[in-house]
Amino acid sequence: MTAPYDANNIFAKILRGEIPSHKLYEDAETYAFMDVMPQGKGHCLAITKAPFRNILDVDLANLNAVIATTQKLARGVKAAFDADGVTVIQFNEPAAGQTVFHLHFHVIPRFDGVALKPHTGQMEDQNVLAANADKIRQALATL
Ligand code: 5GP
Repeated sequence: MTAPYDANNIFAKILRGEIPSHKLYEDAETYAFMDVMPQGKGHCLAITKAPFRNILDVDLANLNAVIATTQKLARGVKAAFDADGVTVIQFNEPAAGQTVFHLHFHVIPRFDGVALKPHTGQMEDQNVLAANADKIRQALATL
């Protein structure tokens, strides 16, 4: 038995515009933005707009929508940073490392020989996040 969805989680607040985010993409079902504690340059997140805790309670239509946005982001970050690869990660429940309980997929550009930084490690400078978001938005516009 998992806990119910909590409408006061940080991503719900981002969706409601109560706290700021570096927006990358939005459609009817999904929203994408920069992770504030990136595990690598260009680390971003794709989330559903509808309230799901994680992969265990999402319906297939919303899962398909957020996966489509995840693929878009993966292609976007690869192009934006000329990355060698892209890591996609998704955690479910605290035992698995989930810390924000609104369904999301991590998309992280990867570079040969560069290790990932720790999960929820250090806060990135807002100017760096803004500059990286700009590059990703530009790349997404050309896909
Ligand atoms: P989880 O551990 O739930 O898979 O990942 C949550 C992610 O959200 C982490 O990578 C963390 O850095 C990120 N995060 C936490 N708080 C905020 C926030 O206020 N804004 C943004 N953009 N990302 C956040």
